[in-house]
Amino acid sequence: MSSSRQVPPTKRKTTATCLKRRKINEESLKSSGTAFIGQVIKFWKSPLWVGVDRIEDYVEKLLHSIFFLGHIHEDRLLPNAFFESQAVKDELQTKFKMAFHNYMSPPCQTPFSILLTLAVRICGHEDEDKIQENLLSFLEALQLPPKIKGESNYTNYYTLEATVIALCYNETPGALRPVKYYGASLSCRGERAKKIMINQSCLNVWHDYVSYAVLSFRHDDQGNGISFPGTVKCRAFYRNHQTNCYEDRRPCKNCGDLFSLPNPETDKNDFPYGNCAETECLSNLIFKDEDVQSKMIERIDYIGENLKGLREKAKKALEQSMATVPES
Ligand SMILES: [Zn+2]
Repeated sequence: MSSSRQVPPTKRKTTATCLKRRKINEESLKSSGTAFIGQVIKFWKSPLWVGVDRIEDYVEKLLHSIFFLGHIHEDRLLPNAFFESQAVKDELQTKFKMAFHNYMSPPCQTPFSILLTLAVRICGHEDEDKIQENLLSFLEALQLPPKIKGESNYTNYYTLEATVIALCYNETPGALRPVKYYGASLSCRGERAKKIMINQSCLNVWHDYVSYAVLSFRHDDQGNGISFPGTVKCRAFYRNHQTNCYEDRRPCKNCGDLFSLPNPETDKNDFPYGNCAETECLSNLIFKDEDVQSKMIERIDYIGENLKGLREKAKKALEQSMATVPES
C-alpha cells in the first residue's frame, strides 16, 4: 500500500454561520433547560401538582433527564448551568440528590416524555384534550423566545419540547372505555443524544417487541417490523405553533415500516427509527394489555432469538456514544 497517495484529511473550517448556530444552540439548551426546571419547580409547589402521589419522583426524573442532556451536549453544560440562583440550586440539590449525582448516566425518558407521563397521571388517561391543555399550559408558561426568523419551527432552538405526542388503545368489543396509552417523540437534539436515548430505550425501557423492530431497522441490513392486532388504534398529534393547538398527523414512513401503521406518509424523513412518539405509546400498550400480548405471541420465538444479537449491537453502540462524551 502506498502511503504517498494518501492525502491528509483537511480540517473542516468552522464558518461564522456555523459558530453562530452553535452558540444559539448552546444558549438555547441552557435557557430552555433553566426555564423548564423553573416551571417544574413552580408547578411542584402549586395546587396543580400538590397531592400527586410521589410527585418528587417525577421532579427527580425531570432534573436527571435535563442534566444528562446538558452533560452530553456538544458544549457541555453542568447541572449548575440550569439555575437562576444559587439558592434554588442548593435547595434542589438537598432535596434531589440522585439527580445531581447520576446525571452522567442515561435516563429512561427524555424530559417531555416525563412531563407527558405526569400529565396523564394528573388528568387521567381518558381525556386527551385535557392532557394536551395541560402540556400547552406548561409550554406557554416557559415563555420561549419567538421563533427564529425564517425558520418554520424551532429547528435550531433546543426547546426540550417533543415535536409529536401520540396515543394508542386496544378497542376490544365489550370494553366500553379502552385504556389509552401515551408517548412523546424524543425531546433531545443532535445525532449523539438521539442515538444514546434510542439505544438506552431499546435496552432498558421499551417492550422487547418494540425494541426488536427498532433495532432491526437500525442494525440489520433489512429491517423487520412488527404488526398489531386490527383492534389497536394509534393517533399522533403535533403542536401547530400558529394556533398553539395540537393537530392530528399521519404516521411517518418510519412508523409504517416499524409498526405497519395504516396510511403512513411515503416520503423518507430525517428522524432515526425509534424517534417517534408512536414507539413509546405502543410499547406502553404491549406492556399493559394482555389481549394485545396474546395476539402478538406467534412470532415471539423468532423475535427472542434475534433480539439477543441486536441487543449486543445496541449495547456496543451505546457504549461507543457514551465514550465520546468528555467526563470532566
Ligand atoms: Zn413516526
